Amino acid sequence: MALSTTGTTKVTAIAGDGIGPEVMEATKAVLAAAGARIEWEDMMAGAEAFKKGIQSGTPRETIDSIERTGLALKGPLETPVGYGERSANVSLRKHFELYANIRPVRELPGIRTPFSGRGIDMVVVRENVEDLYAGIEYMQTPGVAECLKLISDPGSERILRFAFALAQAEGRSKLACSTKANIMKLTEGMMKRVFERISGDYPSIAPSHLIVDNCAHQMVIAPEQFDVVVMTNMNGDILSDLAAGLVGGLGVAPSSNIGDKAAMFEAVHGSAPQIAGKNLANPTALLLSAVMLLRHIGDFAAAEKVEQSIYVTLTEGKNLTGDIAAKGTGVGTDKYVAQLIENLGRKSDKPSRDYAPISVPAWSPEQGVVAAKTKEVVGVDLFIDSALGPQAVGDKLQAAVQGSAFSLLTVANRGVQVWPPVGGHTFCVDHYRARLMLAAPIGATEGQAQIADLLGRIPEGMSWMHLEKLMRFDGKDAFSKLAGE
Ligand code: NAD
Repeated sequence: MALSTTGTTKVTAIAGDGIGPEVMEATKAVLAAAGARIEWEDMMAGAEAFKKGIQSGTPRETIDSIERTGLALKGPLETPVGYGERSANVSLRKHFELYANIRPVRELPGIRTPFSGRGIDMVVVRENVEDLYAGIEYMQTPGVAECLKLISDPGSERILRFAFALAQAEGRSKLACSTKANIMKLTEGMMKRVFERISGDYPSIAPSHLIVDNCAHQMVIAPEQFDVVVMTNMNGDILSDLAAGLVGGLGVAPSSNIGDKAAMFEAVHGSAPQIAGKNLANPTALLLSAVMLLRHIGDFAAAEKVEQSIYVTLTEGKNLTGDIAAKGTGVGTDKYVAQLIENLGRKSDKPSRDYAPISVPAWSPEQGVVAAKTKEVVGVDLFIDSALGPQAVGDKLQAAVQGSAFSLLTVANRGVQVWPPVGGHTFCVDHYRARLMLAAPIGATEGQAQIADLLGRIPEGMSWMHLEKLMRFDGKDAFSKLAGE
């Protein structure tokens, strides 16, 4: 982060679209009144950038500003229909490798929900750059789509160590890791295994693991049991919104996106175009995101001052915006902001948590590689587009590979063995996986000629879509087995 000559911290401010400018102006006003020493660099991103033809939705000057400051407070961004397919939010997260998404979920005084009084106070930590969000998708046949789910050992260790460090910094005692490792043993299982490997390094934090569907269930029946919960990207995306709903919804839900080089703070909600420009927007979510920013830069006093003013204002229920006010008492954004400013310096019955700076080491490029003493190939999975049906695909392929380095073991359709037939009632689409084994393992860089020979033998009525090598690392099979295999 960049300190200016005046002892203030420079922060890039991206007001964004829809209600963005209103909630940004409100947030800046409350922070200034609280004495936060921030120098804003106002930058643009979102709809306006897309309309100027900037494919990422974020102009170079905005990227350069964040490179300089290392900090951004961001309003909601829209991708206007007809202007590019990528989200400016996702582009920013990926550009700055903002790998940790933090979503505090704390019961707010004065905000009535079916869960009020349960003492919900958790943080959902979501891995923010891997998983299905790498955006690697293909149509395999006109009727079958594929999305690659990439989970890495270093990516998992980085987010898990961040979650442990956050738990320590907030004086919390439990970290739950929630995965779907029972089904996706290699990808979701990766996060579970790394969690088990490193949790002993944090003796003050009690680790636990729970399957993600049970986590959703537990979050609704007993949300107060959670302290910090860490998840892979898509699970975290869904369950962090569920968790936000427990304490009042997106209008009051803050978040941060943290990386080694930069941190970006933003409300969870979108641009709410229906109410934009009408002085109706609730700035609480962006303000609470700014409170996270203040703690991130070490200004714990200003953070607590703003947070306590929000708690007092919500508790007293006077001059709240329409979305959270008692029926018929809602006021404009400007009046709510004036009330927040008036309440600065007051303490509510609900204390702020104790926070300490989070300490996580930066990751070096070498840490991206996990070495193995031996890497061998034991076969290939060949993905085939064919309308011939399972019996013909298996029989024809078996005959075609006679005399090659490979022998056909099984053919599967969407993961279920259909050749040799096992008597199931599988509904087959035109996308098959043929598992072909080598007689003996070969080195990872060998076998090009054998694979080329194999591809040349694919019979009429079939075409190959992609090929996966079946690897063995350090003598251990590194691929999923078919049921019963
Ligand atoms: P939304 O969050 O904008 O609106 C959902 C509902 O909540 C609406 O009824 C809205 O009026 C209300 N609402 C949201 N924030 C509010 C606030 N601060 N005060 C009062 N009421 C509020 O979700 P949406 O309608 O699905 O999305 C609108 C646009 O925002 C889309 O273009 C979407 O892509 C974008 N979006 C951006 C982000 C982001 O930049 N992080 C996140 C979500 C959606």
